[in-house]
Amino acid sequence: MKVNWTGFSKKTRLERLDFLAQKGLLSKEKEEFLAKNETLPLNVAEQMAENTLASLALPYALVPDFLVNGQTYQVPFVTEEPSVVAAASFAAKIIKRSGGFNSLVHERQMIGQVALYQVPDQLEARKKILSAQAELLDLANAAYPSILKRGGGARSLWVESKEDFLLVYLSLDSQEAMGANMLNTMLEALSPELERLSQGQSLMAILSNYATNSLVTATCEVDLRYLSRNKEEAQEIAQKMELASRLAQIDPYRASTHNKGIFNGIDALVLATGNDWRAIEAGAHTYAARSGQYRGLSKWTLDPDQRKLRGELTLPMPIASKGGSIGLNPTVEASFELLGQPQARELASIIVAVGLAQNFAALKALVTTGIQAGHMKLQAKSLALQAGAQQEEIAPLVKELIAGKNFNLQAAKENLEKLREK
Ligand code: NDP
Repeated sequence: MKVNWTGFSKKTRLERLDFLAQKGLLSKEKEEFLAKNETLPLNVAEQMAENTLASLALPYALVPDFLVNGQTYQVPFVTEEPSVVAAASFAAKIIKRSGGFNSLVHERQMIGQVALYQVPDQLEARKKILSAQAELLDLANAAYPSILKRGGGARSLWVESKEDFLLVYLSLDSQEAMGANMLNTMLEALSPELERLSQGQSLMAILSNYATNSLVTATCEVDLRYLSRNKEEAQEIAQKMELASRLAQIDPYRASTHNKGIFNGIDALVLATGNDWRAIEAGAHTYAARSGQYRGLSKWTLDPDQRKLRGELTLPMPIASKGGSIGLNPTVEASFELLGQPQARELASIIVAVGLAQNFAALKALVTTGIQAGHMKLQAKSLALQAGAQQEEIAPLVKELIAGKNFNLQAAKENLEKLREK
């Protein structure tokens, strides 16, 4: 169904929830649940972490209309940073008009390793382990039989020598789960047999977050006319965005911030879907450094003949639709509802597209108005609230702060006093 989102941002929170329910994007039950804003029951919080005292809340927002592989998604974002949702919405709109995103899941397996040391003869040990490969895979699968019933299981095993370590890697098809606990269980079951075969010791058996068997690529082609109505200016913006993406390939100082911008979107959705964002961050940053230098994860290239700016982002995305805290957290259920109950592969496709969109918005802002223009209003609003402004005082105080370009709490307090004296 085509939804007209005009004015969505101007609605009140309850009107937005009502709108989503009216359009059939959210069930009545979840509308009422989100309206109450008691999003994590304490008994659930206590199941998630030890020594729980309370739960810490973050804004739960919506970015409408991401077009990915021909399908439109309403995307929940959990973020504390002003402008992230607005920037993603802007990018989603422009890229939708340009034909949307294409996302490709290259493969979806999780890798883990048993690190062996004090191996007397690494070459001999390697030979023995590789010739016992089939039995070792059976042993791994026997340690977690339920994943076999679900169509997954241990798929391959390989060995690498790194200095005095002999590293045995296992790749697992974890189906809808991230697979951390599954893989760790399998690896621990393999360790005694690997010690026997290698005559060495196992130092540890654990999954790797460097999920190179879970790579996902998102691409898009932005029509230059959406960058500016002025043809020359549009071309110049695209050229600068291409340059900015090259800079992130060359300079780690820039690459770090370039990738942080990508994660403004990715983390927001990973969090909203109850996934392990540290795992996703760790894998992606390692992937960004795979050449030996930390580089930008995305690339933008201008095609002046077609008048298109092409974006591409590849990173490991071992995301889950089952397991971990996903089934426990009722707000996460609302996220899956908004997204149309995607399976893990589909969710991975959406997440990488979101990262590319966020990167597009950040680069466009950086090479044109600068990043502060968009931040200023929200920053001023937050300062107004901190200075103690009442609802009716916020708008005039924000206006004063923007006019004065003086963004600090002292200035907000002084301006508020002046307003009250008027
Ligand atoms: P779980 O241990 O929760 O295992 C997945 C669960 O999902 C199982 O109970 C499985 O049931 C169930 N399930 C239901 N349907 C499916 C399906 N279609 N496909 C697959 N599983 C299904 O999660 P993971 O093993 O994925 O581990 C993820 C958790 O591990 C996260 O919380 C993460 O934070 C944590 N972790 C992360 C580490 C890291 O990143 N380095 C290290 C250690 C833990 P059944 O058992 O019946 O098959």
